[in-house]
Amino acid sequence: MTERLYYHDSFLGEFPATVLEVVPGTRPGIVLDRTAFYPTSGGQLFDTGSLQSEKGSLRVAEVAEDDRGRILHLVEGDGLPPGTQIRGEIDGARRRDHMQQHSGQHLLSAAFIRIFGWETISFHMGDECCSIDLSTSNLNPQQIEEAETLANDIVLEDRPVDIRFVSREEAQRLGLRKIPPAEREQLRLIDIRDFDLTACGGTHVTRTGQIGAILLRKTEKVKQGGRVEFVCGTRAVRTAGRDFRTLTEAAGLVSGHIWELPEQIRKLQANAKTLHKSHKDLLEEVASFHANQLLDQTPEHNRPKVLVEVFANRDLEYVKLLAQRAVRQGTAICLFASTSATPAVVFAQSAGQPHHMGALMKEALAALGGRGGGSQDLAQGGPERIDSLDRVLEALAARVRE
Ligand SMILES: [Zn+2]
Repeated sequence: MTERLYYHDSFLGEFPATVLEVVPGTRPGIVLDRTAFYPTSGGQLFDTGSLQSEKGSLRVAEVAEDDRGRILHLVEGDGLPPGTQIRGEIDGARRRDHMQQHSGQHLLSAAFIRIFGWETISFHMGDECCSIDLSTSNLNPQQIEEAETLANDIVLEDRPVDIRFVSREEAQRLGLRKIPPAEREQLRLIDIRDFDLTACGGTHVTRTGQIGAILLRKTEKVKQGGRVEFVCGTRAVRTAGRDFRTLTEAAGLVSGHIWELPEQIRKLQANAKTLHKSHKDLLEEVASFHANQLLDQTPEHNRPKVLVEVFANRDLEYVKLLAQRAVRQGTAICLFASTSATPAVVFAQSAGQPHHMGALMKEALAALGGRGGGSQDLAQGGPERIDSLDRVLEALAARVRE
């Protein structure tokens, strides 16, 4: 079994060790007699770093524990023969980040328990963000702020964080909330002085001040309760910096201060709504005039007028509107098409006419490709080809004129 050096010292960044065995794979898994590398477990991510030997340096890309309890240092390149003396070196910035996130999580979970009695059901540490799932589905912003404030108060008090090894009986006597299933006789406890006592195998800070800051972010309802996203320490600073740059860019677009953004966006939305409405009104008015003009230009007074038009610069919305106006403002059959960015065909007839626009559309699309259909009086489609559009429309027009 590998001696887990990180159990006793989270700040140990370098250590000598001996290779015990190599588990073959796409990335060989090196097993050492002792290691400071943390394997993914308990919600915390693995460490990365390198193993140095006389043969050079091997990059440790991932560290995992297999079902036999072996800690596998998955390296890029070939493994090392058993017996090789190595010097392990951990990526310090990554480890510190994980210590800050994980220790922050202990404080936050304890704060939610102390104030509201909500247990933490699970903890997830991602590359960007961390989250805990709480045993409640009712989280409001005030509660979030309360827990955040308490957790940060404990950070500011710079309380000692001790590692203790106790028997299961002693853990019970100490009033540990959650005693993990019986795997080992000795339990490893993380003791945040007079605030929290939790059984955990992860890497933590030695004083709460090293967490830096705890920043709560999104909350959402999940199946098992309420999820709270948070970031701690350097990650909190980085995240706040990125938020600020994003907000500053957005504020620049509306020439305002970042704090005025919601108000400015609401104004823009209201403005857009008004413009949209007035645009729609104008379009309808234009379509009405346009329809009359087309009807006037088309002879044949005793029979329905057959209007055939291909518009290069009008979209489906307008062409459809125009057709609907024309068949209402006169007795007509419209065979319209748009050859704009998204080509479209619209057929419409005045109520009471004997043709079937949906059937005509199927015929047109059989020649032009594409999809579409409709009812007796109105149909639309999106043709695949528009080169023979005029010819197809004229052929259909000749039929309905008969
Ligand atoms: Zn922990």
